Amino acid sequence: RDAAVPIESLDQLSKTSMPLCMRICHEHIRANHHIKHTGRMQYGLFLKGIGVTLEDSLRFWREEFTKKMDSDKFTRSYEYNIYHNYGKKGSMVNYTPYSCAKIIKDVAGPGDCHGCPYKNMDQGSLKSKLSSYGLSASAIEEVMFFVSRGHYQIGCGKYFQLTHNSSVEPSINHPNNYFEESQMAMG
Ligand code: SF4
Repeated sequence: RDAAVPIESLDQLSKTSMPLCMRICHEHIRANHHIKHTGRMQYGLFLKGIGVTLEDSLRFWREEFTKKMDSDKFTRSYEYNIYHNYGKKGSMVNYTPYSCAKIIKDVAGPGDCHGCPYKNMDQGSLKSKLSSYGLSASAIEEVMFFVSRGHYQIGCGKYFQLTHNSSVEPSINHPNNYFEESQMAMG
């Protein structure tokens, strides 16, 4: 993307254009003001990929984390990693946002928010989540048809189709590609 995405728009974008794996991380940070390492990598690199600048990323994580820790601890323990993700420290590698294949493989434990919710959440919790995001009972069944058969990415594409009133179901293989498709669908 050419234009930078301001962090002030993330609450809105999380609802309209982020796939579940990223929306859940976003909501986790807003609610807990913390997120463990793998989740920070998953969501942080996604944000970089959609066009959040390094400066805005530093501000976003600092504003949330310092609701629960002092500023020095944030600088000491977390800032380095954000620079690192943008290729500005350490090996200077420019890290790539995670694909669905990678995210689906990441096993999440209690208190974690990373991973693919279509795989990680039990079916009851997933249905409640989809309902809280505004899906009707029949729409939820359409998504669950694929999820219950282990076709997580197809379920994710179905969710996209239902929430964008799209006539085609996009094939989803990357959360950043989900986001781009969503932005295009919304004009
Ligand atoms: Fe995220 Fe991919 Fe899972 Fe969709 S299928 S929620 S984009 S990991």
